[in-house]
Amino acid sequence: MRSPMKICLFALALVFLSPACAQIVSAQSSHAAIRAARLIDSKSESVVNNAVVLIENDKITAVGSGLQIPADAKVIDLGDSTLLPGLIDVHTHLLSEMDGTNLTLQDVEMLRIVATQSTARRALLGAKLGREDLEAGITTVRDLGNSGVNGDVALRDAINNGWLPGPRIVAATRALAAQGGQFGQLTPEAQSIIEQEYVTIRGAESARQAVRQALYDGANCIKVIVNGSPANVTLDEMKAIVEEAHTAGVKVAAHAIGYNATRIAAEAGADSIEHAYTVKDDVLKMMADKHIFLVPTDGTVKTFLDMTFGTRQPTAEERSRMEKAYQPFVERSRDRLQRARKMGVPIASGSDMYLTMPNLKRGQASLLVFEAYSEAGMSPLEIIQAATRNGAELLGMSDRIGTLETGKLADIIAVPGDPLKDVKALQHAKFVMKGGAVIKNEK
Ligand SMILES: [Zn+2]
Repeated sequence: MRSPMKICLFALALVFLSPACAQIVSAQSSHAAIRAARLIDSKSESVVNNAVVLIENDKITAVGSGLQIPADAKVIDLGDSTLLPGLIDVHTHLLSEMDGTNLTLQDVEMLRIVATQSTARRALLGAKLGREDLEAGITTVRDLGNSGVNGDVALRDAINNGWLPGPRIVAATRALAAQGGQFGQLTPEAQSIIEQEYVTIRGAESARQAVRQALYDGANCIKVIVNGSPANVTLDEMKAIVEEAHTAGVKVAAHAIGYNATRIAAEAGADSIEHAYTVKDDVLKMMADKHIFLVPTDGTVKTFLDMTFGTRQPTAEERSRMEKAYQPFVERSRDRLQRARKMGVPIASGSDMYLTMPNLKRGQASLLVFEAYSEAGMSPLEIIQAATRNGAELLGMSDRIGTLETGKLADIIAVPGDPLKDVKALQHAKFVMKGGAVIKNEK
């Protein structure tokens, strides 16, 4: 039986512990060592066997094979698993969720969301989806718009303040777009709603002003919808945006699908081109020359089918009809990813996940993009690098994240087995650490 007196004395001792003593206690408890069968640091091509990572507070102090573990370190032994840098998704929409079974109604869905959901409500949705990303092993995201009026900034700051668990967020605030944003046609009376989701730019000077507004609103990157519906951003406007953003040390992500839009984005010197589903070789060449990242937000036919049918079981006829409908798009995307890799365009992994996937949380659904990369011929190591080191480089955060090296933040995940043998292992992170804090540790 515990003596009440002893508990009292212990409490008193805690109260009177000097600040110096308290610091020693906290410093002692912040030494950690993670042990696992393998480690991929994402910097070199080789695998470290019998891996040990030493951590002090939020940073990595040593990485290697069979390192000696300090006596005071808390040891986390993860057995037959592979340690990797925390994953980076450079294209998320944490404050948006649309019904995946209703792809043809996306215009209406967007209207419904913007007209009926406050930014506060969407930020709370983002808190849920952000946690799901983090638990899946995604420790950093670049959130590219569709977050109401600066809801992504609020979510980012809340996470940074430690109010709730979530990934590191690079926030875009409202995306810059030509007339109409991505809304489709609206009546003149309804058009005021557009500014709640996009900032309309009208010429180069207005484009500069929109960048300044985004920076004032707290953006750490600028998102531009180069081809909207129906209007496009012009080369002049795009150049003004890139110049203004780069002057402030902020990068530009360009949503661009077809030839004209991708060419405008590349010519203006955007830092990444998102989607680029039908990009031509001359633009890919420009991207390779200027080191502009391609963010292939791709899916497999299976992903699209699962999304479309949701939890409903389709008939065989229905399934084969939809399969045929998706096949050409998936093949085109695969082809452009293969061409981009051949031409030396840097690739960063981005999911663009904003739709519901049956029985999957947002984080798990976001990692399905790896299957598309794999089908396009990317090796497991290439995929890992696209989702770690390359993502960090695109975000301008290579000094802090993206590889497992001394001095980097301790954003570390562990997946079962060997992801170089089976890339699907990346979808099953059982251990997640962000900045030295254990988020998840499943046996
Ligand atoms: Zn997107």
